[in-house]
Amino acid sequence: MSSRPRVLSGIRPTGESFQLGNYVGAVRHWAAMQDENDCFFFLADLHALTETPEPAKLRGRTRQAVAELLAMGVDPVRSTVFAQSHVAEHPELAWVLGCLTGFGEASRMTQFKEKGGGSVGLFYYPVLQAADILIYQANAVPIGEDQRQHLELTRDLAQRFNARYGDTFVLPAAYEGRAGERIKDLQDPTRKMSKSIGGTGTIWVLDDPKTVTKKVRSAVTDTGREVRVADDKPGITNLLTILSVCTGKAVPELEDAYAGKGYGDFKADVAEAVVELFAPVRERYAGFIDDPAELDRVLAAGAARAREVAVRTMTTVRERVGLLAPT
Ligand code: ATP
Ligand code: MG
Repeated sequence: MSSRPRVLSGIRPTGESFQLGNYVGAVRHWAAMQDENDCFFFLADLHALTETPEPAKLRGRTRQAVAELLAMGVDPVRSTVFAQSHVAEHPELAWVLGCLTGFGEASRMTQFKEKGGGSVGLFYYPVLQAADILIYQANAVPIGEDQRQHLELTRDLAQRFNARYGDTFVLPAAYEGRAGERIKDLQDPTRKMSKSIGGTGTIWVLDDPKTVTKKVRSAVTDTGREVRVADDKPGITNLLTILSVCTGKAVPELEDAYAGKGYGDFKADVAEAVVELFAPVRERYAGFIDDPAELDRVLAAGAARAREVAVRTMTTVRERVGLLAPT
C-alpha cells in the first residue's frame, strides 16, 4: 500500500455537473491510475466558495459530484475520496504557508491577474492549493498546463518551509503520463469548456442523448467543408479531438475517414460517440444518486482516512513553527 506513490487531485463542485473536459482531462485518468498509486481525490468545496455559490446548491452539488465521480470509475475502496471542507487541516496549513508567501509572489500568479482581481479568497487560492497537496505529502499531482505555476509555488513553499524549520514536506512533482487533451467550448472553440461557464457550448456528463446531439449539431464550425485539424478551424479541430477521445482512434485516421464527407455526417458521428461514452456513466450515476446515505458514508470514510494523514502532518507543522501544544 504505502510503497505506491501518493497522488493527489481535486475538482471543484461548481456548475450543473461535470463536463466532457473534466472527464477527458482529469477524471478518466484518475480512474486509470488507482491501482498503481495511492490516490487522494477530493471535492474542492472550499475553492468553490471563491464563486460564492448559492449555499443549498453548493451542498447538493457536492454530494452529486461524489455520485458522478463513482459513476466515472473512481473507486472509494482503492482511493481516498473526500470533501476538502471535512478536513480542517487544509485551511489551517494554508494559513501557515501564507505567512511564508510574499505578497508580490502571490500577485504574480497569472490566473489571478487574468481574472483582473477579485476577493482575497481568490488571491489566496494558490496557497490553499499548496496546502491541499503538501498536507498529504503527495509525490505527484496530475495537472493541466494552466496549473504549472501553482505547482511551482507549492514546491517553493515546501522548500522554504523545509529550509527554515527542518525537513517536513515531500516536494510534489507533476504527474506525467497523462495526455494533455483540452476540450474547447462548442460555441466558442477558442476557449476551454468549463463547468462554471456552462451553456449550450458545454456538454454535461449527465446530459441526455437528445441534448448531446442538439449541442453537437449546433457546435460552431467554419465555412469550409473539410474535416481536418487546422489553426483556422478551431471548431472542427475540437470535434476531431472529441471523436478521437471517444473512439480511441487517432486524429489522422479520422481525417482520412471523413475525407470528402460533409460536416453533417461528421457531427452526427461525434454526437453518437459522446452519447455512447456517457451512457454507462449516466446509468451508474442513477444508481448512486438514489442512495444519498451511501454517498455520505463514502465521504465520511474518505475524510477519516484523509484526516489521519493530515493530522499527522499538521502536528509536526505546529510543533516546528513553535505553536504551543494544547494540553
Ligand atoms: P470551473 O469553471 O469551476 O473552473 P472547470 O470545468 O474548469 O470548472 P476545474 O474544477 O477547474 O474544472 O478542473 C478540474 C479538472 O478538470 C482539472 O484537472 C482540469 O485540468 C480539468 N479540465 C477542466 N476543463 C477541461 C477541459 N476543457 N479540457 C480538459 N481538461 C479540463
Ligand atoms: Mg477551472
